[in-house]
Amino acid sequence: MKKILVTGGAGFLGSHLCDRLVERGEDVLCVDNFFTGSKRNVAHLLSRSNFELMRHDVTFPLYVEVDRIFNLACPASPIHYQHDPVQTTKTSVHGAINMLGLAKRLRARILQASTSEVYGDPEVHPQPEAYWGRVNPIGVRSCYDEGKRCAETLFFDYFRQHRLEIKVMRIFNTYGPRMNVGDGRVVSNFIVQALQGHDLTIYGDGQQTRSFCYVDDLVDGMLRLMDSRPEFSGPVNIGNPCEFTMLELAERVLRLTGSRSRLIYKSLPLDDPRQRQPDISLAENELGWKPEVGLEDGLKETISYFRMALSG
Ligand code: NAD
Ligand code: UDP
Ligand code: UDP
Repeated sequence: MKKILVTGGAGFLGSHLCDRLVERGEDVLCVDNFFTGSKRNVAHLLSRSNFELMRHDVTFPLYVEVDRIFNLACPASPIHYQHDPVQTTKTSVHGAINMLGLAKRLRARILQASTSEVYGDPEVHPQPEAYWGRVNPIGVRSCYDEGKRCAETLFFDYFRQHRLEIKVMRIFNTYGPRMNVGDGRVVSNFIVQALQGHDLTIYGDGQQTRSFCYVDDLVDGMLRLMDSRPEFSGPVNIGNPCEFTMLELAERVLRLTGSRSRLIYKSLPLDDPRQRQPDISLAENELGWKPEVGLEDGLKETISYFRMALSG
């Protein structure tokens, strides 16, 4: 049994990760400041003897004793990370420094939840890990994109300078149960709008693409990466390569919910990437990982979750 720290553990991805670790019998310490996460997401784990919840902001030092660290703390939805952009950069950068300092003192293995946003609005398609990206350093998304890029830099410098065992995971758009009703990302927005009979908000012409990964697949990839051979640091893309336009996504959500909502068009947010699709050959070869859940099945699960969340 290992002692495992999950920062951002009360968030969408973090809470699913805590579930899997607790099931595996690990001793889990979940740390969160509840900015976008909530105690509700982990309430069912509180009675488990191998789970502990701690309110803490990772921009401040943290002195605990653990064997492994999953660093997920950071708001992921554009509306939330742009709400207090300075805090977003601090969370990525100071948070990474503190968690790397902790890992260094303990000689603990540490995994960083990085993002496909490090590729920005990409000219290379699909995106392999070797692509350096096209990111605006001074735009409204930069607090998140550049914060995450700087965190990757810190991870690789601690690796080179202090010989830390690091794992850098570039996560592509992931969805599933426990996304916040007000999260603001596209899958939860469309489902909530469809179930409430509101118009579905298409930003821009809806021809921009994303590739959506179901949360169970994502967490499986994350666990495999953490357990990979010590010399493998990544970065590695984890995502589902099936690519859809936002219009296709909206049509699917309407069909699967049976909703009579209509589409309305709103202006495209600044610096919104036109296309995104992971090249997952590295994950396949190195981790033996590929996603198993298609969009249709994943959406059905997510829709049932939101039906319940909205009725309660
Ligand atoms: P989320 O917003 O649901 O979870 C983030 C969690 O971090 C929340 O519980 C929040 O309260 C917590 N947090 C934020 N700032 C903190 C701080 N300073 N100290 C402590 N806790 C803090 O988002 P998510 O989708 O679960 O994302 C988890 C991680 O995965 C993030 O690092 C995100 O950047 C990354 N990621 C997610 C996706 C995705 O599609 N879900 C894609 C790329 C990267
Ligand atoms: N740190 C932490 N927990 C620890 C050890 C370090 O939060 O158990 C923080 C500490 O506040 C420091 C940061 O991690 O600012 C980086 O630590 P490191 O040892 O790499 O750098 P230094 O302390 O030399 O600045
Ligand atoms: N989007 C949309 N309607 C919404 C929310 C988002 O059309 O209600 C679009 C958004 O402009 C982007 C895509 O959906 O092109 C994915 O947005 P999201 O915020 O989910 O993630 P990200 O842009 O970070 O990939």
